[in-house]
Amino acid sequence: MKDTNCIFCKIANGEIPSKTLYEDDNFRVILDLGPATKGHALILPKEHYANLHELPEETAGEVMKLAKRMADRMKERLGCEGLNLVQNNGDLAGQTVFHFHMHMIPRYQADGQKIGWRPGELTEEELEEIKNTIVG
Ligand code: AMP
Ligand code: ZN
Repeated sequence: MKDTNCIFCKIANGEIPSKTLYEDDNFRVILDLGPATKGHALILPKEHYANLHELPEETAGEVMKLAKRMADRMKERLGCEGLNLVQNNGDLAGQTVFHFHMHMIPRYQADGQKIGWRPGELTEEELEEIKNTIVG
């Protein structure tokens, strides 16, 4: 299904032009218009899924295979020394376009970017309780 109000549906399906790095029947990979680093790309499914929770498992697997192929190409062609895969779900997690996408962010020496979090500290009991909440 496509969402007629969704900009990434329009880009993924070629109704809005983009700098396309790769395309097949199910995906388009484009350059991000506000790149964190040189080569920052987005993997877009052509079908509309708002986020990871809506994404079928099989499509999720295909996204990761494509990310691996694109990452190898970026390393070879751009000479990046690292690469972050980032995938935001929900406002709170920084998602701004509500069509599932995977960021591919090549990393370079002194690229001025920082992708991370402030590490917390938990007791053994707290860790155990969280574990039981998720899988218990
Ligand atoms: P997120 O915050 O994870 O939802 O990421 C949305 C990303 O989409 C941002 O990195 C934007 O720079 C990028 N973006 C938004 N509109 C466009 C567009 N028309 N073409 C390419 N990238 C876009
Ligand atoms: Zn969409």
